Amino acid sequence: MDRTKFVLDEDRIPRSYYNIAADLPVPPPPVLHPGTGQPVGPDDLAPLFPMALIGQEVSTDKEIEIPGPVREAYALYRPSPLYRARRLEAALDTPAHIYYKYEGVSPAGSHKPNTAIAQAFYNKDAGVKRLATETGAGQWGSALAFAGALFGLEVKVYMVRASYDQKPYRRILMETYGAEVVASPSLTTAYGRRVLDADPDSPGSLGMAISEAVEDAGGRDDTKYSLGSVLSHVLLHQTVIGQEAIEQMAMAGEEPDIVIGCTGGGSNFAGLAFPFVGRQLRGEGGYRVIAVEPEAAPSLTRGEYRYDFGDTGQMTPLVKMHTLGHDFIPEPIHAGGLRYHGMAPLVSLLKEQGLIEAIAVGQTAAFEAGVRFARAEGIVPAPETAHAIRICIDEAIRCREEGTPRVILFNLSGHGHFDLSAYERYLDGRLEDYEYPADRVATALEAVPAM
Ligand SMILES: *Cc1c(COP(=O)(O)O)cnc(C)c1O
Repeated sequence: MDRTKFVLDEDRIPRSYYNIAADLPVPPPPVLHPGTGQPVGPDDLAPLFPMALIGQEVSTDKEIEIPGPVREAYALYRPSPLYRARRLEAALDTPAHIYYKYEGVSPAGSHKPNTAIAQAFYNKDAGVKRLATETGAGQWGSALAFAGALFGLEVKVYMVRASYDQKPYRRILMETYGAEVVASPSLTTAYGRRVLDADPDSPGSLGMAISEAVEDAGGRDDTKYSLGSVLSHVLLHQTVIGQEAIEQMAMAGEEPDIVIGCTGGGSNFAGLAFPFVGRQLRGEGGYRVIAVEPEAAPSLTRGEYRYDFGDTGQMTPLVKMHTLGHDFIPEPIHAGGLRYHGMAPLVSLLKEQGLIEAIAVGQTAAFEAGVRFARAEGIVPAPETAHAIRICIDEAIRCREEGTPRVILFNLSGHGHFDLSAYERYLDGRLEDYEYPADRVATALEAVPAM
């Protein structure tokens, strides 16, 4: 029988994270202090993060050892399986070989626990009692709530108001894991009260919720802040995905020609792609690497590469990244995990250096691909993931047209079991596409500091 599934034993969980900063031809630009505009030092970040994570944020060591308790927690769902999508290949009548790494096997249903577990461990190890964070649709919040439960940490989640009202199931999942969830903007922070004073009906945004969580953590000695994407240490933790995939592709006896991931803040994409890009940088392979983002928040394809804040309230340090402006609030697309104004500095840097490509996809086209994938392979992908699947299918069709049997690998970052109401809208023909909002981006970019 031809093999469909490539699984590794528990002892093949990677022993270290792969740090792409060690292989980059130029170092990433420094992170700047929001007040002074000077590079931040460890002490500036200490109110928000434990020292181990601050060290990882700026490390240039190629390998960073994964602590034993983190590997033990990973064993609940790692190594994740790699599949060959034989039925999708047949449905598309393509000579391409399509592989996907399935991160939906984690208890929270996505790749996000890979970093949530690591962050919970390092915080617990540093004596932290409580973590504050934000969540959009609830995927990150549920991953951190799960990790907090494993390591005995209290978790407070600021959940974007629009999702809080419309998507109760992720909130209930977080509460089941023991987290405290409030709708953001909330009355519990000065920033939230300021927003609500100006607009009592504010639907919130990820940028606002980040401001609230940062304020919460900055104001309490027992609390640190935790972010689910964008930062270099988050991307670092996700590299377990690509390291396993390299081994599993070798089991399959193939090398990918094309590596694809969807990008919100960039972490699942980086997790799969960076170990491959690292091989390319060391002259050990050559890949086309494609980041797929939504047309409604196209930071990599339409944003500017410059210093900006990570949040709306201008409380985070300034990072150099592709940004649509920290004031920019994307349209309410169903791929909540992709609704962010910026992009991870490391992913942005690779794009600047021409090491990766970026493509924007509309949500109807993404859902069409997601439904096609579900009918061929059985897994209902998260709407975020469906963006990556769209480009995978387009490339596979191109292989058919050109008669070239390329090998395509994409990251199936999570399942869509909590997103079925979005699928219902698509199936009923009620899903809308949003134009690229050029003038709102131009306005938001005017508010970005000049430096
Ligand atoms: C959060 C999320 C994303 C987007 O975040 P990245 O940091 O860009 O990976 C993509 N897919 C799923 C399933 C998510 O939960």
